[in-house]
Amino acid sequence: MSSHEVFEHAFEVIQKIEEAGGEAYIVGGAVRDYLSGRPVNDIDIATSETPERIQEIFDKVIPVGIEHGTVIVRHRSVSYEVTTYRVEEGYEDYRHPDEVTFVQDITLDLARRDFTTNAIAMSRDGRLIDPYHGHDAIRNKKIEAVGEPSERFHEDPLRMMRAVRFASQLSFKIEKRTEEALNHLSPLLQHISIERIAVEMEKIFGGSDYALGLQLLQSTGLKNHLPILKDLDINRNVPYSPLFGWHEIIAFYAVQYPQLSPENFMKSWKLSKDTKKKTVQLLHAYKIYERKKNVTSWLVYQLDNELFPSFSRLFSALDEGDMNLDKALTDMKDQLPIQNKKELSFQARDLLQLYTHLPKGPWISEWMDTIEHCVVTGEIENDYEKIKEWVRGWNPPASN
Ligand code: ATP
Ligand code: MG
Repeated sequence: MSSHEVFEHAFEVIQKIEEAGGEAYIVGGAVRDYLSGRPVNDIDIATSETPERIQEIFDKVIPVGIEHGTVIVRHRSVSYEVTTYRVEEGYEDYRHPDEVTFVQDITLDLARRDFTTNAIAMSRDGRLIDPYHGHDAIRNKKIEAVGEPSERFHEDPLRMMRAVRFASQLSFKIEKRTEEALNHLSPLLQHISIERIAVEMEKIFGGSDYALGLQLLQSTGLKNHLPILKDLDINRNVPYSPLFGWHEIIAFYAVQYPQLSPENFMKSWKLSKDTKKKTVQLLHAYKIYERKKNVTSWLVYQLDNELFPSFSRLFSALDEGDMNLDKALTDMKDQLPIQNKKELSFQARDLLQLYTHLPKGPWISEWMDTIEHCVVTGEIENDYEKIKEWVRGWNPPASN
């Protein structure tokens, strides 16, 4: 596809800025992905205009980081991050530049970017501004720092993780001088917050060449600064396929290292509650599979449909087979007698009616669990009368 087809609507945003007397270009990942023939996701735009001017030019603008020069422009229901050309100075604390200065020249803005592949700007007529020969780097499949690699890694050590992340996603090699700097400076990673590292790490596992990514983590020494992972043999136990998200990653290692505590893992990487919930569910389902050596109806019943793709990927990452498990799980779930507890024809209140003389206690939920399990596995039909008769045959719980 031509740049005009891919970027048609983004070019309209640029045109509007130009008509107001400003300059604007598509920059960063969108240009890189377009030039390397990959699908383009978020489109970032760099402009000579201040955030205040952008707010005047467009009707729908969301201020997300005005002090850094960034706003989101909504155009035809799509969001564009529009950032004023800027330079960054003084990375004293290894975290944020001490100062952001707006400038008037796109080439100065490109100079602050991490890798040459990410430092290309595209104008509205498809022309490239490419002072660091990023297009050549894309053709040669190279990740290469803009400027002096060690300086750039000193400024922001997260860039070292980003180098490995792009190698994994694009299947590019890291250019020699950049890799040498990485090998020397990997200990600087200790200055970076675990949350920022976690974002890149997740992308390394999701890249098409994740095995290259894992190998680079080892060879550069970055691995030594990754909690938990540093103690695992991540280059022997390589997944057979990419993993999308921390819950899949943690489940993958937890299955292979029984002594590994998923709770510890999540704590040391400061992962979210949502990740925790998904990890626990995924591992629970996998344990059922391991016990039964089969994908049972109980397993499918217990697993949220939302996690079917994750279960499927975990399965294939562990080389347990590469069938289209996702679809099979959905079909299995559709055919279950019930989808959840609420659909049981016989509820706790029905149980209590049978045993009005007995005190309430844990036996109620235990019995209900048994009923639920047997209905799901097909041992008893989901029919009020049938379940009632069946339960009547059970030994009543000892009353006390
Ligand atoms: P993705 O497709 O994952 O979004 P991306 O290249 O767009 O990849 P972002 O993190 O969205 O990556 O950053 C957008 C652009 O900002 C990058 O292409 C790069 O030019 C610049 N950039 C981002 N992070 C840094 C950094 N730590 N140091 C220097 N430049 C950076
Ligand atoms: Mg991006």
